Amino acid sequence: MGGRGFNNYVTLSGRNSSADYSKRQRGSNKQLLGNMPDEMSRPLVPGWSESGGSRQLEASLSDPNTPTVGILGTGDFSRSLARRLVASGYQVVVGSRSPARSVALFPEDVEVTSQMEAATQADVVFVAVFPEHHSTLVTLKSALVGKTLVDVSNSLGINRDGPSNAEQLSDLFPDSFVVKGFNTLSAWTLQNGPRDGIRQVLLCGNSSKAKDLVKHICHRMGFIPVDMGFLSSSLEIENLPHHLFPSWRLPVLCMLCLFVFFYLYSFIQEVIHPLVEKGKGAFYKMPIEVVNAALPSVALVMLALVYLPGLFAAFFQLRWGTKYKRFPDWLDRWLTARKQFGLCSFFCAVLHAVYSLSLPLRKSARYKLSNMAYQQVKAGVEDSWNDEEVWRMELYLSAGIMALGLLSLLAVTSLPSVANTLNWREFTFIQSSLGYCALTAATTHTLIFGWNRAFTAARYPFYLPPSFVLVLILPCVVLCGRLALFLPCVAGRLWKIRRGWERSRQIRFALPGEDCRNGGGEDVSNV
Ligand code: NAP
Repeated sequence: MGGRGFNNYVTLSGRNSSADYSKRQRGSNKQLLGNMPDEMSRPLVPGWSESGGSRQLEASLSDPNTPTVGILGTGDFSRSLARRLVASGYQVVVGSRSPARSVALFPEDVEVTSQMEAATQADVVFVAVFPEHHSTLVTLKSALVGKTLVDVSNSLGINRDGPSNAEQLSDLFPDSFVVKGFNTLSAWTLQNGPRDGIRQVLLCGNSSKAKDLVKHICHRMGFIPVDMGFLSSSLEIENLPHHLFPSWRLPVLCMLCLFVFFYLYSFIQEVIHPLVEKGKGAFYKMPIEVVNAALPSVALVMLALVYLPGLFAAFFQLRWGTKYKRFPDWLDRWLTARKQFGLCSFFCAVLHAVYSLSLPLRKSARYKLSNMAYQQVKAGVEDSWNDEEVWRMELYLSAGIMALGLLSLLAVTSLPSVANTLNWREFTFIQSSLGYCALTAATTHTLIFGWNRAFTAARYPFYLPPSFVLVLILPCVVLCGRLALFLPCVAGRLWKIRRGWERSRQIRFALPGEDCRNGGGEDVSNV
């Protein structure tokens, strides 16, 4: 790459015949393309002028360190990549099986030529051809010896067993250096550039020199290369675009199951019970009231499920007397999904808040209110103010708002861009300490809702306890478990274990009290 220098310029001058052909052909091809659909010749992003990159290109021609970039294939990906490369100041040469047909699809600064010509001229070659057709490129083998090949291909689905497309390409071209990358970017993103926020490009390859070259191109195009190691990582990179929220499966499944359970539970109590008892069903409650009874239950249980695995982890560590034993798989999976559990809880809590605000807007609520007022007037009640009810509602709402506020804070700080601005202590303070505060506020909100209702027989239709009683079990267990971990004998032992002490090895260990500067033995483990 670095050695091309002046020679590069000479070579480019020597290319004129082919470039002239490209430009000559462009005019006639545009006429030919008149029969093709308009969108074929239109850039993917409006506002791209075909000659948009000419100024940068001039700059690149005078820069001896700028490699000539080749692209094999003239499809969507190739067109977007060529435009971005030209805009970044690269000399681009595209190789096509039929250059005459494809030349009008590229900006003027891009040279469209035969595959062999492109492979010969370029220092680094992007293979923008579907992997099924990689084998048709073997005729270019001799022209690609010692050059960097960038495999941008994606497979049709998740490939668990390998080999990856990049590894197969490397087998086809053993004398070239294959780098896997760019497959996680769409043609649209490439053409738009990194301003849309998708900035990372995952790369891997066996040659560090080839990877450095591709990393440099990445940087110059405004993307951030992420080195994923050797070419053996290419399978993982190729599978990435096919994953469908893998870390969300367990939390979302859990949330849906809980929702169905609490919805049916409330449906039986709120709709079926009056139908059986009084012969009058309240089916109108199904879209809002029953949903709004299920949502806070799901939110609270999901929030408790965020903190329960941490307690299990502490329990295992205390029992084993070491932190160096692996947790069971189910606990590992649960621990890594806590963020998603928390976000699901936040989602349900927000919906609950919106549903609750909409309650007085319903016709049914207005009818009930006016009927109640009429009954009171009829009964001669002048002032229906009830201090206990008033206080209960004030406290209930306040605790709920506080819980939602804290949950919002947890949700915001779980965003990678925000989390990156926090140090470990700040992050654990918010996620652990404030998280427990949120759980306490949400539990208080539910307890106040229960108030004396939990002790009224009418609240137990079909001998079923009200849903708020069921819902409170798990958060209360979690909060009590957390309090138990604060007991000095338990906290001290756990602290030692998390600092590397092992019961079986009996390593002498200084207690936190012996070094008070530590701040009281703060828990810096991730559980
Ligand atoms: P495409 O529009 O179908 O273009 C593929 C190009 O391959 C054709 O235009 C063709 O150009 C060339 N080609 C060379 N030999 C071929 C052969 N034997 N049979 C058929 N075509 C042949 O595909 P694409 O969307 O640009 O995708 C190209 C590669 O990029 C794929 O591996 C894909 O997985 C990867 N990719 C695409 C995107 C995207 O958003 N489109 C995103 C990430 C990765 P000539 O006829 O001019 O030779």
